[in-house]
Amino acid sequence: MPLPHWMGLCLALTAVSCSGEEKYQGPPVVVIGIDGMTWDVAATLVEQGRMPHMAALLERGVGGDLETFVPTYSPVLWTTIATGKPTKEHGIRYFSEIGPNGQPLRDGLPYTSNSRQVPAIWNLASAAGRKVDSVAWWVSWPAEQIEHGNIVASYAAQAQANVLWKPLVWEEGIPELTWPPQLQEDIAPILDAGRPKGELVKEYNERFGLIDKGWKVPYQREILFRGTYHADVTHKRIFQQLIRDKGLADLSLLYFGLPDVAGHFFWRYREPDAYHYRVPPVMVKRIQDHIDKAYIAVDDWIGEIVADLPEDTIIMLISDHGMGPANLNYEKAAQSGAHEDGPPGIFVLAGPQVKPQGLLPADNRAVGDLLDVVPTLLDLLRIPAEPGMSGQSMRALLTQVWQDEHENLPARITAVPFRAATAPREPQEGLSEDFFNAVDQLGYTESSSGGISGQNRQDSQNPN
Ligand SMILES: [Zn+2]
Repeated sequence: MPLPHWMGLCLALTAVSCSGEEKYQGPPVVVIGIDGMTWDVAATLVEQGRMPHMAALLERGVGGDLETFVPTYSPVLWTTIATGKPTKEHGIRYFSEIGPNGQPLRDGLPYTSNSRQVPAIWNLASAAGRKVDSVAWWVSWPAEQIEHGNIVASYAAQAQANVLWKPLVWEEGIPELTWPPQLQEDIAPILDAGRPKGELVKEYNERFGLIDKGWKVPYQREILFRGTYHADVTHKRIFQQLIRDKGLADLSLLYFGLPDVAGHFFWRYREPDAYHYRVPPVMVKRIQDHIDKAYIAVDDWIGEIVADLPEDTIIMLISDHGMGPANLNYEKAAQSGAHEDGPPGIFVLAGPQVKPQGLLPADNRAVGDLLDVVPTLLDLLRIPAEPGMSGQSMRALLTQVWQDEHENLPARITAVPFRAATAPREPQEGLSEDFFNAVDQLGYTESSSGGISGQNRQDSQNPN
């Protein structure tokens, strides 16, 4: 029996699948989000040869500044990055719900993915037929149903350990943590290995050493820092398993939180002279390298991930903002490093299609802002931008050959259809309280760092 004529057409035009969707034939794109990484630290470590994998990426690519937006709340910024739309359009305005008068709602819940008002890059890329994997992105719980790819959601990101490994939660698991749902079984052994008292304790201790229990402030902070380490390693392992078991997606996204938490907690020991109070020298001696070590850990993870990628992969590293010393007069502040003034984050793009420029000079390092990330990803994946995206593709960083071969696609006239936003959901009764407790302990919501505290939240203080 002869082939039906449409099948012959499919075979002849390999770029078009038989469902009519255009198949993506370009290189895979891997995005690693690194909360709070700043060149002030990373550039020195690269120079000293202590971040060799970052150095290797810079050698075959470019490093620059990514401008950010104030206020620098993680759920807000990572959603801006993922949607290419500003806060007022994507609707994620703080850690938890904000009322019409701009103040946190009494008993408001943490924002969840269903409250987002516009599609994220995983929705857009999947709708265009690209396969997308996303692991641990902020405000990605419940895991959204996408046609092509896998999502491992995050309810809490930096506060992950308090939520993910809570005893009762741990036995039952967080519902809708993954898409597709059966993925949850595949990652269960990795989550088990990452639990707070599990095998990672030894690995952590070898990297960072132990802190004297009597050193109350750093000791308490370090418990939370450990949780972030466990969450990051767990998410890295899940990401690697996804690639191994299901093949590398056209677009892969992974989030790490460690440099942000390290910066918040340990800056006073790194740069004691910046503070107007005495930081005990014995503590400085013991903890001054914690931030460097956190960056080096992330560099090791980048190395492990890159080793598994094909040669033509385009790799993008982004941070939502930079970091620096803060609360200079306030010895009791949980955070001695912060980013309220919105210092730029890092941006690295590497791969054979990227003009090799290395790390741009400090006085001319800006390459774009958070709103430019999605237009750039869409350009690389050959998908038109959405109407109303104000950011631009950073295509000037790519080689002239790539630019000549890939026209700048005009934006769509009508938006990709997207479901209506709904009120935040709670994964399990009581988990929002764990989220708030963790965020308060991390110091993200205390008034001294420009936010609001757990108690003040009840008073509906303005978050700005
Ligand atoms: Zn931060």
